[in-house]
Amino acid sequence: MKKKQRGQLIVLSGPSGVGKSTVIAELLSLRDDIHFSVSFTTRTPRTGEADGVNYSFVTREHFEGMIAGNELLEYAEYVNNYYGTSLKVINEKLDEGIDVLLDIEVKGAAAVKTKCPEAVLIFIIPPSFEELSRRLKNRNSDEDDVIASRLQTAREEYREIPHYDYLVVNDKVSAAALELEAILTAEACRTKNRLNLIEGV
Ligand code: 5GP
Repeated sequence: MKKKQRGQLIVLSGPSGVGKSTVIAELLSLRDDIHFSVSFTTRTPRTGEADGVNYSFVTREHFEGMIAGNELLEYAEYVNNYYGTSLKVINEKLDEGIDVLLDIEVKGAAAVKTKCPEAVLIFIIPPSFEELSRRLKNRNSDEDDVIASRLQTAREEYREIPHYDYLVVNDKVSAAALELEAILTAEACRTKNRLNLIEGV
């Protein structure tokens, strides 16, 4: 089959504690043709995180230099840290016909949709808000006030859901990853993405 002319930009958002990273890891194990965009951030690495794998960890000065140099497709400040997506890497991959997956919060997602209307926006939620609260508490890593503030942020993020193209429920990780894969397959089959298959007929 002929290769796609341009890759699909896929944006995934969801509240803290929903299990996004686990679902993404599962999706990437099912599909080896997706490039996961490693964001830049000024926050410090968590245990187990590696520079260049989970994020590119940079200083505030470095990040502000990237903003000034227009090097970012989008960026946002989230809990006192900058997070942003490199324009150069994304464009290179999309030009090669490779799909690119971004894991970004709601403001960044809105900015991407404005700049790239063809991007597919997917929001991932837990089966219920009570379940989200339970998952955050079970992590045992945050104080009650931090959990309360994450739940409040989640409520605000939920208000943006109508702007997303798809809503995936993470009840079971494997099922959520399959829902994501089904969305990507359907998007790839859109007529506008397949016109190259009928060229010259
Ligand atoms: P965390 O610190 O938990 O890894 O991420 C916090 C939030 O930042 C998550 O909602 C994540 O999706 C978002 N995020 C990660 N990278 C980016 C980015 O490049 N741009 C934006 N706008 N948000 C990001």
